[in-house]
Amino acid sequence: MRHIYLDNNATTHLHPEVLEAMLPYLGEIYGNASSIHWFGQEARRAIDLARERVADFLGGSTDEIVFTSGGTEADNQALIGIADLIGKPGSRIITTTVEHQAVLNSCRHLESKGFRVTYVPVDGLGRIDLQAFADSIDDDVILASVMLANNEVGTIQPIREAAQIARSKGILFHTDAVQAAGRIPLDVRELGVDLLSLSAHKLHGPKGCGALFVRSAIPRPVLVHGGHHERRMRAGTENVPAIVGFGQACQLAGSRIEEHSRLTASLRNRLEKGILDRLSHVRVNGCREHRLANTLNVSFEGVDGQMLAMNLDLMGIAVSTGSACQSDAMEPSYVLSAMGCSEGVATSCIRFSLGIDNTVEEVDLVLDALTNLMEGLRH
Ligand SMILES: *Cc1c(COP(=O)(O)O)cnc(C)c1O
Repeated sequence: MRHIYLDNNATTHLHPEVLEAMLPYLGEIYGNASSIHWFGQEARRAIDLARERVADFLGGSTDEIVFTSGGTEADNQALIGIADLIGKPGSRIITTTVEHQAVLNSCRHLESKGFRVTYVPVDGLGRIDLQAFADSIDDDVILASVMLANNEVGTIQPIREAAQIARSKGILFHTDAVQAAGRIPLDVRELGVDLLSLSAHKLHGPKGCGALFVRSAIPRPVLVHGGHHERRMRAGTENVPAIVGFGQACQLAGSRIEEHSRLTASLRNRLEKGILDRLSHVRVNGCREHRLANTLNVSFEGVDGQMLAMNLDLMGIAVSTGSACQSDAMEPSYVLSAMGCSEGVATSCIRFSLGIDNTVEEVDLVLDALTNLMEGLRH
């Protein structure tokens, strides 16, 4: 069976160039980067180069990049690490209702430790209200965390404006840029953020590797304690092959952002138009004006999203509901619920997330499959 992958917001394939860059470090160059001998120093040099590439990719400097085990750990380090460092009992953190679980559950953890968290709501398109964000910041607030682009609907937040507000109020600002990286241009200075999370596997790098940008002027958050690795900000013997792959993936992603967004936008728009033209009672979720070019979230009224995704999978088409499925029936997407969508809309959605290697032919096959399936499922 032919397989069509439209789930690039869950993960992306490892680019062949990235694999090639990693291979020596899975083989002959196996030293511990902390060792003084040749084996160790070769590994150290590779990490240094990867750090330069990641720093270039996001416009920071190398001493501001901490390698982590992925986006989840980077988010945990930003929130829990900063709360540990500068929080007092009763300190408050501001975030939004549509963040990834890595941020939301770090906040829940902090709430259990006596911190307070304010969840700023979003509008029907998934965007935060900057005035509500500004109004939520008082003297108890130490940190705000707002994602750059949402993983379920692709909505892009006004991060530059939010970071500016945070700065004017004297609080730290973190953004989860895991979905945005490689899809829209990233520049930490231009955005004005203090902390930013990345994940390698969302931009054609390996799984289990990511980074936290920590602006040099701010306190240094620590989550994993131990040896003196990563300038004491993240202990543990470095995952050299993954870090090398991540560096290569950032270099590649940086060089083809425009191409990526142009190609995925044209395919995504073809898919979107095809669905709207061919099917009735469908609704596109998210913000058309401020949206990742590769992401399309659609609700198919009266159809269970999980059921639709499973049926598409039987036809070789990989998509996601964008929401965790706890049982056979689909749980409503918390992101769509937070956007004010009805339960019907929030349980009937499918997320199509395209990649640079998808083709027009694949999109047309998906449209035919959807049209056929919907006829059956709606009767
Ligand atoms: C995937 C994702 C994460 C988690 O990254 P991992 O490297 O898989 O731990 C965090 N935030 C967002 C927005 C994501 O899409």
